[in-house]
Amino acid sequence: MISVEEAERIIMSQRKDFGNEKLELEKALGHILAEDLKTDRDLPAYNKVTMDGIAVNYKAIENGINKFKIIATQAAGEPPLEINKEDECIEIMTGAVLPNNTDTIIRYEDLEITDTLAILGSKVVKKGQNVHLKGTDKKENDIVVTAGRVIDAAVIGIAATVGATTLLVKKQPEIIIISTGNELVEITETPSPYQIRSSNSHTIKALLKLQTINATCLHIDDDLDTTIKTIKDCLDKYDIILLSGGISMGKFDFVPQALEVCGVHKFFHKVQQRPGKPFWFGKHNDGAVVFALPGNPVSVFLCMIRYVLPWLYNNTGRQALPNLHALLGVDVHFKPSLQYFVQVKVNVNNKGQLVATPLEGNGSGDFSNILDTNAFMELPVGKETYTRGDVYRIWQFKPLFV
Ligand code: AMP
Ligand code: MG
Repeated sequence: MISVEEAERIIMSQRKDFGNEKLELEKALGHILAEDLKTDRDLPAYNKVTMDGIAVNYKAIENGINKFKIIATQAAGEPPLEINKEDECIEIMTGAVLPNNTDTIIRYEDLEITDTLAILGSKVVKKGQNVHLKGTDKKENDIVVTAGRVIDAAVIGIAATVGATTLLVKKQPEIIIISTGNELVEITETPSPYQIRSSNSHTIKALLKLQTINATCLHIDDDLDTTIKTIKDCLDKYDIILLSGGISMGKFDFVPQALEVCGVHKFFHKVQQRPGKPFWFGKHNDGAVVFALPGNPVSVFLCMIRYVLPWLYNNTGRQALPNLHALLGVDVHFKPSLQYFVQVKVNVNNKGQLVATPLEGNGSGDFSNILDTNAFMELPVGKETYTRGDVYRIWQFKPLFV
């Protein structure tokens, strides 16, 4: 049995590049940008009026003129008009291009307007006010978003601004989730008294979906031939196989044997941890990576958060979650020689420190506990008592403060 640190090191040393793909802008949210986005024109693209009012030439102000003849009105989206005399002005709207021979905008709020005249109030006028000059944010061909950024709403907005209708993004891996177990039925079916609904594939799928990764689900019975055949098929079609269940000591736990028959190289089977001790990890020569997780729903959750998602972050260009630590809120006693991932609710104390309070529930089968907690705290192997106030790493699986 290997340690958690060794398991992590082995998993992280498996590097995969899933390539890039083009996505329509509408579908790119949450993906990782794989190209630099450049402006196709200056930003702003023209001298842009930022207030409703009148456009004048500042020389008129310098020469003491305070009444302007309104010779026309120019809306946003219209080509520029022009003035030809100093005491002329054009009524102008926000978003319009600056009219020719003008350089300054005076807001309606600072004017008195009659049918044909705009009369200046007492407010001091500054040269060039209320004009956002062409190219002062970015020049044509400047990089506005660098490759590697998560495409969030702001990136979508910038991409739209520069006319990027499709974006080159990091391609997400093709993943199959295979759940195993004769006691499991689809959630659309009614379980008999000795059956349960299969939830693991839904949990895993949801965790992946939060990373914009779509996965396919499949369920198989505990049967060696079926397991072999299914794994063989999937090795050809998928980059990653995520199995749940069937890797322990039970008479019907056929997954490790089936993986071996299929030629998947085993890096490890069993990790010194609770939950999730039977965890199996390997790779096929043709490239598919196999994570075989124990069937217990909490074990699945822990292995996803502690190993699978960090590996995916690493190999899809995504920033890992920050490495957070918290104070343990109460003493914890735990005897087995295993790294203990205790489910905790993390709060902030009045000194601004993170404090993790364990909610131990009924062990790794007690999934409902996950609802009331927001992280696992990783208590290192080798102690029997973990003392209140000690600091340990936490693995958050939800926003900490909601
Ligand atoms: P196993 O690892 O196959 O021995 O399963 C361990 C425990 O997890 C058993 O109590 C199973 O019934 C349960 N389990 C296995 N797979 C699933 C699943 N897909 N959904 C919910 N519970 C499961
Ligand atoms: Mg099973």
